[in-house]
Amino acid sequence: MTKIILPGATVGIVGGGQLGQMMALAAKEMGFRVGVLDPTPDCPCGQVADWQIIAAYQDEAALSQLAEKSDVLTFEFENVHVATLDRVASGTYFPQGTHLLAISQNRLKEKSFLQSLGLPVAPFVPLENIRDLRQAVAKLGYPCVLKTTTDGYDGKGQVVFTAEVDEALAAPLLAHGACVLEAWVPFVKELSIMVAGNEAGELSFFPVVENDHRHNILHATLVPAAISTHLSNEVQALAKKIATAVKLVGTLAVEIFLTPDGELFVNELAPRPHNSGHYSIEACTISQFTAHLRGICNWPLPPVRLLSPAVMVNILGEHLAKSYGEIPRQRSWNFHLYGKALAKTGRKMGHITILTTNLTQTLKEIQATKIWDA
Ligand code: AMP
Repeated sequence: MTKIILPGATVGIVGGGQLGQMMALAAKEMGFRVGVLDPTPDCPCGQVADWQIIAAYQDEAALSQLAEKSDVLTFEFENVHVATLDRVASGTYFPQGTHLLAISQNRLKEKSFLQSLGLPVAPFVPLENIRDLRQAVAKLGYPCVLKTTTDGYDGKGQVVFTAEVDEALAAPLLAHGACVLEAWVPFVKELSIMVAGNEAGELSFFPVVENDHRHNILHATLVPAAISTHLSNEVQALAKKIATAVKLVGTLAVEIFLTPDGELFVNELAPRPHNSGHYSIEACTISQFTAHLRGICNWPLPPVRLLSPAVMVNILGEHLAKSYGEIPRQRSWNFHLYGKALAKTGRKMGHITILTTNLTQTLKEIQATKIWDA
């Protein structure tokens, strides 16, 4: 008999950023109690959770305490130590497990896993030092991108080489540990899809979206992606293959490149709610956060319907003041602010979701505010 977690139970979240916050808000709506572990007092999730344990993510005693106080354990980000999580979670309900987490923490494991499923990834070469790097560049050609195998996010731990290898830029990445060189994929669109699963093996697929990155950080998500039904089905089939292979519980984001001749390459997996799924709060019959909770609590999962096309735009530290200026003017914009104390450049402070019948017109309106001008 699979276990079902009912309202009144406690959901324990490792990590207290905006993803944890929106997960907690959904959990509260469903009648759960929420606990979070995060080193920052008054972190975004801590502001809406019932309680917070203030400690480092790798603090095993603190993680054990979170596990003991929770009826179901989950996480909002990838960089949790897998062996520690396995140890502390042994006494609690942790249906996601660490299999997919371990794959997504390491780019090489991730690529090998995707290849084992017969899914296309960009050509790549694993490497450890400058000599390997030169050989890898000779093999893959320019442009190419050097990435650390672990700890990379939002473009951190990445360097693009367009015409020559800049050793000074490569050195800190190589000093971090094993790396991977990837051929540049000349994509026309970056797509992503969210899928949620439960222990009963049910899956909910969200619509395929189109993402616009600036300086390697997600800037905007457009839904639905302007692609053919055939391609959209292909993206969904690809997500299904991954979700089925790992017996997905909770939410998974799959990031994909689309090339000019219609080829798809899987770029990255994120075994959690994702920035490119935030639009679902307003635009879908169920949000990615509610789907995540239904998944880990083993509630049945519904088919997801898009209620309206939408644009989601991120508010980074440098956009915060100007975005406040739009609050009195924009009656149809859904403002989400995460309550972070410090508005640093490049830091995700909030997002805006706009439901629309005309994506092009809405993008023009967003541009006209000049909030996101470089
Ligand atoms: P990642 O951290 O791997 O998701 O990379 C961040 C962003 O860098 C991606 O969303 C792309 O815009 C770009 N990027 C990374 N790898 C490649 C690649 N092999 N080819 C083209 N663009 C890439």
